[in-house]
Order: sequence, then structure tokens, then C-alpha cells
Amino acid sequence: MKVGLLSPMPGFHKELFDIVDIFIPQVDRRDGSLEGADLRVIISQSEENSVRRCQAELSGALNITSRNETTITGNALLVRRLHKRQLKTVLFDALTKATGKQPPWGSLTGIRPARLVLDAMGEGLPLDEAASLIQNTFQITDAKISLLKDIIRVQQGLPQLSDKQIACYIGIPFCSSRCRYCSFISTVAGKGSLLTDYVQALKQEIAGTIALMKDKGLTARSVYLGGGTPTVLDEDLLAQVLEAARPLFQQADEVTVEAGRPDSITKEKLQLIHAAGVHRISVNPQTMHDKTLELVGRRHSVQQTLDAYQLAREVGINNINMDLIAGLPGESLAMFDHTLNEVLKLEPEAVTVHTLSVKRSSDMHRFGDALPEGRVAEDMVVLAREAVSAQGMQPYYIYRQKHMTGNLENVGYALPGKACLYNIDMMEDKATVMAMGAGAISKYIHSGGKHILRAPNVKDAAHYMERVDEMLDRKKALFEGKGRGVKPQQDLDEELQDLD
Ligand code: SF4
Repeated sequence: MKVGLLSPMPGFHKELFDIVDIFIPQVDRRDGSLEGADLRVIISQSEENSVRRCQAELSGALNITSRNETTITGNALLVRRLHKRQLKTVLFDALTKATGKQPPWGSLTGIRPARLVLDAMGEGLPLDEAASLIQNTFQITDAKISLLKDIIRVQQGLPQLSDKQIACYIGIPFCSSRCRYCSFISTVAGKGSLLTDYVQALKQEIAGTIALMKDKGLTARSVYLGGGTPTVLDEDLLAQVLEAARPLFQQADEVTVEAGRPDSITKEKLQLIHAAGVHRISVNPQTMHDKTLELVGRRHSVQQTLDAYQLAREVGINNINMDLIAGLPGESLAMFDHTLNEVLKLEPEAVTVHTLSVKRSSDMHRFGDALPEGRVAEDMVVLAREAVSAQGMQPYYIYRQKHMTGNLENVGYALPGKACLYNIDMMEDKATVMAMGAGAISKYIHSGGKHILRAPNVKDAAHYMERVDEMLDRKKALFEGKGRGVKPQQDLDEELQDLD
């Protein structure tokens, strides 16, 4: 649908369109123009004695007018923030009334919802009050606030980071083929010397990062080998990466290897991973239906998932996460229920329930009506929460992405003691992250998470190999206060690697 937007605050239009996206999928944005628009949105405002009156008028595909009156005072930064919130609220109210929809996360477009509650707690509010504040501000449903509170309680029960502990990420941005829904930085591995050359450059960056951490007196609390799919490397290359990272593994309380694609797993690779001291792996079915796997280009079968899982158990890996996706094309609630049952029968230690994100950069648009509606995806995530809870798992981390079916979320569940520290430390901006590999993004967290500096590595593998020294210099510069400053909550989609 073509949506035109006019307002006296064009600097807020991106955020206002994000509100429209909550209600209307695949919006064609007409910023600053109503010409040819199916839905016309006009925001107007007036102000008198610090009282600001805003109005959102919808016409065309939807017809309604909503008004809001708020007293806004404070410093310039606060006034701007409250002003933006007021405009978003008045537009959200208009769309709620016009469509009759009640989005589960209300007007929240942020990507780290738990972080908002944690920030309010940082101002001295107890959990319940902080959660109520966030719920009322964004009109979040009771179910989602209850989920956030459960997540925060689990996180509070985990060992706290010391100020000398950080998280490390090592990226292998290659896969054997590309899943149709993929929006990560991942190249099809193919033949030739690309992987061999990449591993040589990566080993150089790992060694340089270890030296930098030693110089700064930092140690890794968690290490995450992600991608892509690290197990796309053959046994020899995988062994080389594991060996290069061994000093980090020896420091860490937790080491994860994403072994996501079952078709990339062999017994020898799992033995190498286990012998290297890796604590946790991910084997990702996504669905337990062969037809869907074929549809989304996963290029593996359900049987391969079962075999890979069995192999991992045989070599002695005792913390296995399995990723699922709610909202895959052609899947009904009953099909998702079958997937859940089959996965939980295996008794993994953790399950991460993603909701399909239909991004412009992915190949999912072509499925059109075969994609389940938001309310079906919502039923799927409710079902998942009930099923994993019955198995004793608790939700321990959450993040949201843009363009998620039903405006939902991704949630990691784990048995007590099996939550992934890296996921929490990275997602809640608790830990500085030293990230290695093409497209990996390092973050320097300071002032209790209020200030963040980022240093991205170049995305292209060939450029990365040529410029690996420069990637190390970028990391060093973070400790001198140089890097791209970002606000908490910003840019997660760009920052995300293929985490479980
Ligand atoms: S979704 Fe994951 S496994 Fe699939 S191509 Fe992308 S990075 Fe690789």
C-alpha cells in the first residue's frame, strides 16, 4: 500500500512510518507527499504555554482523526524525545482505532524491549513498576510484559559480569547455500581457496585481538563462533580456527559454536568442537517439515537434523540449542505444533523461537499469501512458550527485528543453568564485544551501557582479507574513544549476526 505522510516534523518521519509498518505490511513510503497515496496521513500540531496539541488525520484507505494533548517541559533533548513520542502515540492511536488491531508490542518499535525495562530499573524503579511504566508508555499487552518480566528475572539470577570481562565473536560468514529468508551477511562457500584464505586472515585477527585484550587486561567471559555457519569449514580449517581461538576458550565460562545447518555437520567436526572445549552448540531445524525446508532453500532434510543431533549427543555435547521459526510459508498452527513436539522429544537444553522477518533484502516476498498471517504467527509463539515451559525451560533473552510477522519477537528459552551468556551480554549491551571476521561488529560499552562505540569490520570477505590489519586498528581505536557512537537500542538489525 502506498502511504503518504505530511507533518511539520520531517525529521521524525522515519519513526512515524515505523508506526505505520506495525499495522500495514509492506508499506510503500511516500515521505513528504500525498500524491497517489492509498492512505494519506497528515499530522498537525500547535503549542501554547508548554501544552502541545497534536492531531493525526488519516484519509483514503482508512478514515479517522485522533488527537493528543500533552504538557512538555525539560531540557532540549528531553523535549525532543517527548515530542517524538507524542507524535508516535497520536498516530498509533489513530491506526489502532481505524484498524481495530491491538499490536502485541503496542507502539514499541525498539529492538531490545528488555533493555527498556532494565534502563527504568537503573533509575531506581523496582521490576514491577519499571515494567508498568514501559507497558503504559507503549501500550504493550499483559502477555508481552509478563514475558519481559520473566526474562529479566532469569537474567538477574545469572552471574554478573566483572568490569574486565567481555564477549568475543568470531564470524564465519559462509554457508553451503543461502536460505531464502536470510538477511545476514553470508556468502555461499563454493569451491576454490576462498575459505582457506579467509581462515588465514581470521587467524591473524584472532591473534591480534587476543594480544589487544591482554594489553588491556580483559578476558572473555563468553565466546561465540557464528556466521553464516562455522561448520561449513572442512575439518582442517575448522581445527585451525578452534586452535587459534583456544586462548579465548580457556578464559571463557561459555563457548558456543553455531553448527546451524545440519547438512554441514560431521562426526569429526563435532569431535573437534568438543575436544576444543566448546560448551554449547546450535543445531537448527527451523521446521520439522521437509516440504517447508525445500521451499525456503534450507537444502537439508528433517532426517539430517535428527542425525546431526544424535551425533552431537554421541560425542558428548551436553548443551544443544535448536532454532525454530514461526511463520514460515505454507505452515499452519498444526504444522508448527508438530515441529515443536518433534524437537522437544529430543530434549534439547535450549530452544530459540524466531518469528519470520520478511525483509526487503530477503527472498520471501514472493511467497505472498502463503506466508501465515500475523495472528497465526502469534498463536505459534504462544504455543511455543507453553510447550517449552512445560519442559522446564525459561525465557532468557529477547530481541525484535524489523518486518517481523505479526510484529512479534525472537525469544531464547533454556533449562535452568543453560542460558547463553553471550546472547544476553550482547543483546542487552552489558558487555564490550570484540568481534572478528568479515562483517563482525565490535562494541565498546562504557558508562554502564549508556555510551556505546562501534567498530564494524568490512562486510566483503575479499576486502576483509586485504584489510585485516585495519580491522585490528579499528578495535584498538575503540579504547581511545574513537568509533561510531550509537545510542542503546540503535541499529540492531545491522549488528546481528546469525545468532541462535
Ligand atoms: S539463514 Fe543462517 S544458515 Fe541460512 S543462509 Fe543465512 S546465515 Fe546461512
